[in-house]
Amino acid sequence: MSAVSAAARPFDAERVRGDFPILAQRVNGRPLVYLDSAASSQRPLAVLRAVERYETHHHSNVHRGVHTLSQAATEAFEGARARARRFLNARSTREIVFVRGATEGINLVAQSLARSRFGPGDEILISALEHHANIVPWQMVCAQTGCTLKVAPIDRRGEVDFERLSALLSARTRLVAMAHVSNALGTVLPIKRIVEAAHSCGALVLVDGAQAVPHTVVDVRELGCDFYAFSGHKLYGPTGIGVLYGREELLEEMPPWQGGGDMIRTVTFEKSTYNDLPWKFEAGTPNISGAVGLAAAMDYLEGLGIEALAAHEHRLLELATGELERMPGIEIIGTAAHKAAVLSFTMRGCHPHDLGTILDSEGVAIRTGHHCAMPVMTFFDVPATARASFGCYNTEADVRALVAALGKAREVFG
Ligand code: PLP
Repeated sequence: MSAVSAAARPFDAERVRGDFPILAQRVNGRPLVYLDSAASSQRPLAVLRAVERYETHHHSNVHRGVHTLSQAATEAFEGARARARRFLNARSTREIVFVRGATEGINLVAQSLARSRFGPGDEILISALEHHANIVPWQMVCAQTGCTLKVAPIDRRGEVDFERLSALLSARTRLVAMAHVSNALGTVLPIKRIVEAAHSCGALVLVDGAQAVPHTVVDVRELGCDFYAFSGHKLYGPTGIGVLYGREELLEEMPPWQGGGDMIRTVTFEKSTYNDLPWKFEAGTPNISGAVGLAAAMDYLEGLGIEALAAHEHRLLELATGELERMPGIEIIGTAAHKAAVLSFTMRGCHPHDLGTILDSEGVAIRTGHHCAMPVMTFFDVPATARASFGCYNTEADVRALVAALGKAREVFG
């Protein structure tokens, strides 16, 4: 189906809600309004059942058993890898490394690639809107190798200034590590353009896709990136599982970062040799049921139609943005022209944590705090924000509930 016709297809969020039993509950005596999918999305029955089926009928350890259950588990696990390859349109399952989540994927690249290859005079470029998961691993590598961390600035809308980013690229830049979508602001970054600019300087590009994969079709070959990391739990899948995509030639050359079972071919006390891709990077027993659940989540999401879902979420974002703009004392933080499913804001006279508590008493779950993006809070000179984020199960009624709860908070805080 073309992007246009998928986007035009009406998206029935009411029906979708029925797939998520957790949403049927009441919280503090009110129907639950879940607006925290950017932190972790809920799981549909299809995912819960896939995990249950695996645990009930097929579980054993993978890769090293000849017995039937071990073969079934291996088939399920490697089948999930094949599903993830299709999801990202990677060339080969050798390019799909299962990790705990985006954080572990980024740390893998930092410790395997950057630590072994970078040194004084080399530069890593990130942006000013990154999640801590895409800042701290690079700071650690800089301390370990003597390379330098550069930061591309953002403007008052929360957009990365492409000209200033380009000006920071040079022959010294070895790696550009950037979010596809900002978790704190919702900004969608022009990743393809960034990849082209970085590659023209000879730099590699890692994309932190944690907030992008639930809202946009990601084709790593189309984007041209070298690495792409994301977490299952923001994609309607389980926690503790995620994917690092890496271009095969790069992964092939990179040393393993963790040692143990499964990542070796031979071991003697003198020397070990390493397994083929992608297992070279998967030391120890993996999260097998997590991978099975993640594959089911990918089936579910693609079954909904990612473009149609994105169009639905965009309508909710526009509706909520319009409503909040009209509310006295509310300031929206992050007003980029191109945003995805995240609405950060402050209310004058009310700390975001107090706001979050009042909204919770109305059954409305939002996130409050620095969203693991302290430099963004510093830039906007706020201690924290309140953040509503949207997923496939949210409706216009959820936006109205948010607005009504904010109205109550306004009465309390004058
Ligand atoms: N990157 C971004 C943009 C995120 O939003 C998050 C989580 O909020 C992460 C990375 C880290 O994801 P995880 O904690 O699942 O590893």
